[in-house]
Amino acid sequence: MSIFELRGLEFYYIIFVIFVIGACIGSFSNVVILRAFSGESIVLPPSKCPHCHNKLKWYHNIPILSYIFLRGKCGFCKESISIQYPLVETIVGLLFVGIFLKFGLTLNSIVLSVASMLCVVMSVTDIKEQVIFDMHAIALGVIGLLYNFFDIGKSNLGSYDFSLFAHSLSINKSFIYSILGIIAGALIMEVLAFWGKLFVGKRAFGEGDSYILGALGAVFGVRSVPYILVLGVIVQIIIILPMFIKKLLQNREYMLLYSLGGFVLSVGLFKLLDVLNLIGNLFVFIFAFGLMLFFAFYACKKLIVSAKSAEGLTYVPFGPPLIIAAFVLMFI
Ligand SMILES: [Zn+2]
Repeated sequence: MSIFELRGLEFYYIIFVIFVIGACIGSFSNVVILRAFSGESIVLPPSKCPHCHNKLKWYHNIPILSYIFLRGKCGFCKESISIQYPLVETIVGLLFVGIFLKFGLTLNSIVLSVASMLCVVMSVTDIKEQVIFDMHAIALGVIGLLYNFFDIGKSNLGSYDFSLFAHSLSINKSFIYSILGIIAGALIMEVLAFWGKLFVGKRAFGEGDSYILGALGAVFGVRSVPYILVLGVIVQIIIILPMFIKKLLQNREYMLLYSLGGFVLSVGLFKLLDVLNLIGNLFVFIFAFGLMLFFAFYACKKLIVSAKSAEGLTYVPFGPPLIIAAFVLMFI
């Protein structure tokens, strides 16, 4: 049922409960992240302060609130606690609320919530240490396969009917799309990584990115893979553009900046001439198009040279942008 059918207080109560559950799962996500790095089991040892190794009391472990009450410091040794803990708890809590608002109190929401928790875990490990753990991506892939095998998301794709030894078999098409999604997602990233290596001389994407796009393909199906990729690139550009421009200014690569600016302006000029209906004139067209091509080629050449020599161009993980893209597509 839709949560919006609930009235007044009931509605806010349900939203609150879902947020609290999400925050607790977020707290568990922090344990999953921590123990993936340390190699410990995620269930057995009780939580302790990574600095003084004191076992945490229950009231040190309340999601978000403990961090606020303890003012971001360990209750024993007063060492600062990473902002990652309350941040992950809040993000997972909000994701859960968003998913249940969109998909109602359904099995679909539960599975997508678990999938999104795994996405947050992979984003954090990627941001912290540029690592995607196989086990997290594989878990997401398996969830995606099961999700689509039973067509929990009600994809409206229908099913294939087979006849095998006089038995009739029916397989949801969404399951086929899920398998194709894994293959397409992983393959596309591998091909892009290969091209990056060819041009820049080093792998442009880590193997973790192939795992992530493959696992997202398992959940959202093969048809979503190109959209996730394109939107992921846009998110990535939005994230790195300010850092990139700062770096270029520091390295005094003004020619690259000018040529990028020139490219943007020439595209604007082309668009303007088009709006003014002048682009029909062959000479105007050749001039405007030529200008655009010139700046595009020049900027690309400068970009490749700069990327080849750039020690300072910090590695920005591509996993989180892919995951943000998948979340955006899930919610629209
Ligand atoms: Zn401590």
